[in-house]
Amino acid sequence: MTYTPAATRYDNMPYRRCGNSGLLLPPISLGLWQNFGSNDDPNNAIKMIQTAFDIGITHFDLANNYGPTPGAAETNFGNILKNDFANHRDEMIISTKAGYTMWDGPYGDWGSRKSLMASIDQSLHRMQLDYVDIFYSHRYDPNTPLVETMTALHDIVQQGKALYVGISNYPMEQLKETFTLLKRMHVRCVIYQGRYSMLDNNMEKEHIDFLGRKRTGISAFSPLAQGLLSDKYLNGIPKTSRARSNSISLNATTITDDVVKQLTALNDIAKQRNQTLAQMAISWLLKDQRTTTVLVGASTPNQITENVEALNNLTFSTEELEKIAALIPTAK
Ligand code: NDP
Repeated sequence: MTYTPAATRYDNMPYRRCGNSGLLLPPISLGLWQNFGSNDDPNNAIKMIQTAFDIGITHFDLANNYGPTPGAAETNFGNILKNDFANHRDEMIISTKAGYTMWDGPYGDWGSRKSLMASIDQSLHRMQLDYVDIFYSHRYDPNTPLVETMTALHDIVQQGKALYVGISNYPMEQLKETFTLLKRMHVRCVIYQGRYSMLDNNMEKEHIDFLGRKRTGISAFSPLAQGLLSDKYLNGIPKTSRARSNSISLNATTITDDVVKQLTALNDIAKQRNQTLAQMAISWLLKDQRTTTVLVGASTPNQITENVEALNNLTFSTEELEKIAALIPTAK
């Protein structure tokens, strides 16, 4: 059956301005790193994209290598776009990235001009698109001159293959340098993407302060610490969960007794706020207006609707913040 998006989709989403650019993004966006690959249920993938769009999520985040197999998420998303969203491209912000290992040989990785120019063409082909909205350098390449990577980003925009440039996972010093280089080329970095959650301040305060001063958008990836910041691990490891899938980044060894104790205490605070732990974790990131969007991942449509309800309560009392900081000293 042909999909018709909900007429109410723009009624409740409080879009945030991406830094001081013209771009508005939903405070919650959907990431397609996991659950959109070649081994995943295609009907569930379709349902998740439709559910997200129906509640005002207009931003979908991909990368060349998302799968498995690498590239499969873009291919599958491209088919969903073609079948269900052909009339809605101008309502969507689609981002992709290049910089991690993607194809064999010396050019399918890192940040050379050769790699980035080929990668954007491949991504557009897989997604059956003329352009993406945001194209990211996925990580800093210490062996390629930064000016080469930035010039490639500039040229991709000039060629109309991307509308905006983004940077992800750069150390502070190199991030500053990208701003200088891009400014010289009259291109701006519209958004920075870094790992950021209550449990994980990989995106350091220095980055956030710098981006805030530069009036540049921030997207926080893995805002639920890959699902740890939810109630799903409080009583064991469910059969269908990322920790059960033995991913290298989250597996059974992560769920120690101490972690469960900490999550249970956080869950109690969430309950007092009438939120689930996942909702509180998202609200905690969005209480700072500098966070433009949190990039949640999901394995079911229901997780997406649950997570968006976080937007009903983004304020924290001093007491709540103190209680959280007492449990996670880095959560400032
Ligand atoms: P999250 O921290 O949001 O983890 C998502 C996972 O948490 C889901 O797949 C699901 O896992 C679980 N979950 C989500 N909502 C709930 C809920 N309400 N209750 C219980 N469990 C829930 O984010 P991801 O780690 O998936 O990353 C999100 C996106 O960020 C990626 O898709 C990608 O776009 C981007 N990203 C960017 C990176 C970069 O280098 N720039 C690196 C990593 C991610 P389960 O299977 O257990 O149900």
